[in-house]
Amino acid sequence: MTTYLITGASRGIGRALMAGALARGDSVIATARNPENTNWPEGAEVHALDVQDQPAHRRLAEVLGTRTIDALICNAGIYLGRGRIGDAAFDTADWQATLMTNVAGPFFAVEAFLPHLARAKAPRIAIISSQMGSSARAGGGAYIYRASKAAATNLAVNLAKDLAPQGIAVAAYHPGWVRTDMGTSAAAIDVEESITGLLQQIDDLSMAESGRFLFYSGEEIPF
Ligand code: NDP
Repeated sequence: MTTYLITGASRGIGRALMAGALARGDSVIATARNPENTNWPEGAEVHALDVQDQPAHRRLAEVLGTRTIDALICNAGIYLGRGRIGDAAFDTADWQATLMTNVAGPFFAVEAFLPHLARAKAPRIAIISSQMGSSARAGGGAYIYRASKAAATNLAVNLAKDLAPQGIAVAAYHPGWVRTDMGTSAAAIDVEESITGLLQQIDDLSMAESGRFLFYSGEEIPF
């Protein structure tokens, strides 16, 4: 049985990852910034965690005590400022919120839950990034989100280097263009297809794959 800690599990991809893992008998420590706003499945373990809040990560790490986390999935994310320069507001608050959520959030989680990962036999960290952060696939516009996901992938690559001596594998993933509140109903795939692929990739993540940026179906993405 695998124990996952998933951030941003209240809806979308995070919620589906939680449901998919629970359905196959795995254990999930789900986190959400406002857990009281969500109807959780019977028996779900849910903790309040705003990923922008570094001390809150440390408090949750203490609550978890000596428990083991096999796979940390840094999923929580926001997408603000979808326009192009000149036709949308890219203000300070949007930059701050996005960089704190999409970049600092995964870092705070890795930092806080390292001791729990270190107890696992084959510890893994998955940072849910986006191919919109790939400079090789730059499409223009959405600057805040693209920059944040470029940084999230970069974070995964650097953590992979630093955590290799401890045997902790780290990779960044693009979940596909998924029909969620963020992806919108126009997106290419449903959430089941995305999370089935992601769970498979995360389960298979070995030290040999550490530091890579992968599509939910396993293909490497240039960044
Ligand atoms: P949704 O907008 O549907 O869900 C986002 C989730 O993140 C919600 O659970 C939300 O919680 C949570 N969240 C946002 N901010 C915080 C915070 N500060 N603290 C804790 N939780 C927070 O997005 P998706 O499910 O589609 O996206 C999940 C991840 O996948 C994101 O990182 C996104 O960038 C990435 N992604 C998605 C794609 C898509 O097509 N959908 C494509 C590429 C990447 P709350 O309910 O409280 O708002």
